Amino acid sequence: MSAQAKPLGAVQKMARLTRVFGTPALRVRFVRGLRFRLMLSYVIFFSLLLVALGLLFRHELKTQLDGDVETLLNDDWGAIKGWVSIENARPKWEQPEDEDETGIVAQLKQVYFIADDRGNALEYSDEYQSLRLDSRSEIQRILELPEGKTEYTVRRDGEGKPYLIKRGWMAGPRRRLHYFLAMGRSLADSQRTVAQLTRDYFLFLPVLIALSSLLGWIFAGRALGPLNSVAQAALNITGSNLSLRIPQRGAGDELDRLIHSFNRMTARLSQSFEQIRRFSTDVSHELRTPLTSIRGQLEVALFTAETPEQYREAMTNALEDVERLSSIVRALLLLSEAESGQLALQKAPLDLGEVALDIVEQFQIPAQEKALRLRANIVPGCVVPADRVQIDRLLSNLLSNAVKYTPAGGSVWVRVGPAESPTFASVEVEDSGVGIAAGDLPHIFDRFYRVRNAETNRVSGLGLGLSFVSWIVEAHGGRIDVASTPGAGTRFRILLPREAEPVAPRQAEPEAALRNA
Ligand code: ATP
Ligand code: MG
Repeated sequence: MSAQAKPLGAVQKMARLTRVFGTPALRVRFVRGLRFRLMLSYVIFFSLLLVALGLLFRHELKTQLDGDVETLLNDDWGAIKGWVSIENARPKWEQPEDEDETGIVAQLKQVYFIADDRGNALEYSDEYQSLRLDSRSEIQRILELPEGKTEYTVRRDGEGKPYLIKRGWMAGPRRRLHYFLAMGRSLADSQRTVAQLTRDYFLFLPVLIALSSLLGWIFAGRALGPLNSVAQAALNITGSNLSLRIPQRGAGDELDRLIHSFNRMTARLSQSFEQIRRFSTDVSHELRTPLTSIRGQLEVALFTAETPEQYREAMTNALEDVERLSSIVRALLLLSEAESGQLALQKAPLDLGEVALDIVEQFQIPAQEKALRLRANIVPGCVVPADRVQIDRLLSNLLSNAVKYTPAGGSVWVRVGPAESPTFASVEVEDSGVGIAAGDLPHIFDRFYRVRNAETNRVSGLGLGLSFVSWIVEAHGGRIDVASTPGAGTRFRILLPREAEPVAPRQAEPEAALRNA
């Protein structure tokens, strides 16, 4: 008994498919891959183009070849009238004189039909008969055509071979009598040529499509190659080496723009990481100082204090440090509330000059301690719709900075007045302090950003004050700009709109509001 191939079970079929084409997941990844999709669109476009070109070419060729047959038929039509005439109601052919003429007459006699004016057939060739002789009514209709007018038609013989037929009439010996004349030429050659060329073209088409797929695959691979290397380079960038940059290829194309954007993104990320790292250091430093101090005070109370006064003093000092600790924590909480949009503004008409004088008053003591001249120049009547608590905070932060970053003997000016634009009021805080380098200026409003140099390192701070300032100005629909010359001083200028903007209802102000972050 011969071994017969058993039909494959479903599991075996799957196993064979997997061996040949990979797992279904792999296949899906391949088909969804950019390279495959690029190649597919290229091949679809190319195939449609080739088919359209083929059809156009076929149509043009057919028109051209059919036109050639028509020209030959017209020549025959002109020639036959010189060779045949009607005598005694019968067609009479001239005798050819040489071999050439015999050939011409033989050609004319291949496909023709002559009938009289009543539709009686007078003479016709066998080939014409196989195409079907025209009916009497058809002949009558043709005989009524105006002089010189003819009609073309295509007819097929018993085997399906097509002929182009030309029908019209010719005048008899007495000119009023017309005779029906039809002649034909085979279209078989031209149609065969068209069919042959079309078949060859469409047989060759799959080869062209296969070739174009291969080329499409190679081109798509080349175009996407750099993308893979970019992806590989991106993979090497981790949190610990954010300074790595993907090298530009210098082609100035979309991919270079992508690399550029990617590098800028990692640069920004790296900056944010650095800020967060610096912030953790600053926060731990800021929190450690009061904590160490509290611990010292408590140790004093526990081990060395003897009198109630000594206990009281240690407790009071510890309480002050606890107060400082909670103010830092409150500042952080407040900023996060402000930036997440949870902080409400309580806007009411506010005289900016009055607020500024209050704050200047409060800062006179710290300014005098540092031997600074603090002056206010107020134009009265600058009323803006604003939240008093926030404007207090804004001015306190600016003044605190001016006092902190101005060395002893310097000056601080506060100016309130109308701005150039009548719809705004202006608040300026200027100092003759250490100034800010141009490279640091774009960052000073960033959260936790602190300028690091010999002068500023001596001053404590979290780098949060100006983040508050920037948020408050923005929340009031105002603008802030800063001009600074290192070593000479800094000027912050704030413009606040005089008209209240329509604001969405906001939640109530949280109870703890920190005046000076
Ligand atoms: P905080 O205000 O949170 O206690 P800070 O004063 O360091 O800390 P910001 O008020 O946000 O933080 O200021 C950011 C940085 O901008 C400061 O660290 C300082 O280097 C610089 N800066 C701000 N104001 C001035 C100024 N008037 N003169 C010079 N440098 C300034
Ligand atoms: Mg500050």
